[in-house]
Amino acid sequence: MKIRMERIKSKPTDAVLTGVGYDLHRLESGNGIVLCGVKISSDKSFVAHSDGDVPIHALMDAILSALGENDIGHFFPTDDDRYKKADSCALLLEVLNIAKTKGYMLNNISVSIIAQEPTLSPYIDEFKERLSKVTKISRAKIGISATTNEGIGDIGDGNAIASFAAVTLVRIKNDKNDALSEK
Ligand SMILES: [Zn+2]
Repeated sequence: MKIRMERIKSKPTDAVLTGVGYDLHRLESGNGIVLCGVKISSDKSFVAHSDGDVPIHALMDAILSALGENDIGHFFPTDDDRYKKADSCALLLEVLNIAKTKGYMLNNISVSIIAQEPTLSPYIDEFKERLSKVTKISRAKIGISATTNEGIGDIGDGNAIASFAAVTLVRIKNDKNDALSEK
């Protein structure tokens, strides 16, 4: 699952970076969906090259955006068989590694999921728990909201699920980075 490090752009030096990301996947009849790394029983599945974990994809794009990098399609191309049915949490770890390489760590996460069904409110705590485990940030720094699309459009018809994510990253304080900022 090694990403191409030569694709990473130059390092920013700001103390705090913010980023926003968005993703949507269509649904087809199937045997369950994965959101925030949590398996949810459903008679539908995502149409996706990976596991289709929409909020994780939005989160990865938010982190890459904060870093001034290209989006996840650039790092995890859909024509690359290594990412077929990939666990998106493993891809998220790769993105966090890119942040670390550039001298940043995740500070907080804010995610909004738009799904007509299933009702996601019973899963929010589990989503936070899983995201906290994967990202190693405390649950207190993870905000997740879920809403329906009021029955409007493809999302409202239950044919797709979308997600927005926003993040802040903070600079990791170490001698190497401090030397960098003095240049
Ligand atoms: Zn996606």
